[in-house]
Amino acid sequence: MLHIVLYIILSVACFLLLREFLGERLSRKTAELDGLFIENARLLKDKGEFEAQNRGLNKEFTQTVELYELTKDICKSLDEEKVFNIFRQNLEKHTGITDCRYIKNSGELNKYKDYTLLPLNSYENQPIGYLACGNVPGENKDKLSILAQQLLIGLRRAVLYQKVSELAITDTLTQVYSRRYFLERFNEELRRSRNNKLRLCFLLTDIDNFKQYNDRYGHLVGDGILLQVSKTIRDTIRQIDFIGRYGGEELSIVLAETDREQANFAAERIRQAVASDVIRVYDEKLKVTISIGVSAFPENSGQLNDLIEMADQALYQAKASGKNRVCFSPL
Ligand code: GH3
Ligand code: MG
Ligand code: MG
Repeated sequence: MLHIVLYIILSVACFLLLREFLGERLSRKTAELDGLFIENARLLKDKGEFEAQNRGLNKEFTQTVELYELTKDICKSLDEEKVFNIFRQNLEKHTGITDCRYIKNSGELNKYKDYTLLPLNSYENQPIGYLACGNVPGENKDKLSILAQQLLIGLRRAVLYQKVSELAITDTLTQVYSRRYFLERFNEELRRSRNNKLRLCFLLTDIDNFKQYNDRYGHLVGDGILLQVSKTIRDTIRQIDFIGRYGGEELSIVLAETDREQANFAAERIRQAVASDVIRVYDEKLKVTISIGVSAFPENSGQLNDLIEMADQALYQAKASGKNRVCFSPL
């Protein structure tokens, strides 16, 4: 009987000890599990946040790349109108806004009262113009102002370039006088000729069919041709004569102390020098011809603007009668 009682007591004691031991382990494991659940929830939350951040960064990256491409595109040109046209195409692509204008004259602004207007100022804070956009939905307002910043970069560059070119004595591409400086020199030479009763002749030259060269070989080759033609003419005229870039591929020349007969000889020499020159530009070997219009002081006029106008008409005659020739303004 005592054995049985002892056995029962021992069994109960063992059971109680075991329960204590297992219970403690169980509650430790439960606590560990709870901790893991909390950690897991935190990690899931972090993952969500990282993914959202990543999406944001990806979006920002794509937008930055797009903006970079747009700025690169816009800055290809140094011409205000071209800069604006590239901007307009991009604005339409990115926002769907099609009614967009570049207004240079602030007097016209009252016509655009219903438009979203953005002032465009130069680096010196001088007004260049205004951007006017019609029908801009609210969600596109931010995009428009970001894109307009890129337009501003392009326009400021173009305006600055224009200013520097106007101030420069030498034209960067052709290395002859800039138009502004040429006209100054022309004015001086005209005054000197008037005062000293000297004659002078004014020549306006234009490359024949130049567009075709640009189209066939590209603008860089076109530029190379223009540079070489300017050099050939500069090497053909005397020290007292001078040459400028009058417009795109039009060069202007003053032959000082020169009458019509001498000018005919000089202009023919210039024409032939250009026609016989083999122009090596990049990998091409090319030949071009020019047409020349001539006016004479004092026979045609005593005024600079008239002399230019008359040479221009003579140039037109040279083109109309077959190109690669010299024509004089009639007396
Ligand atoms: P034409 O014989 O009647 O003169 O024909 P053209 O093709 O030469 O016609 P036009 O003189 O009217 O055209 C001038 C062309 O010259 C248009 C323009 O693209 C190009 N041009 C003007 N300036 C530059 C320049 O700086 N570089 C290059 N590559 N092309 C220019
Ligand atoms: Mg021309
Ligand atoms: Mg031409």
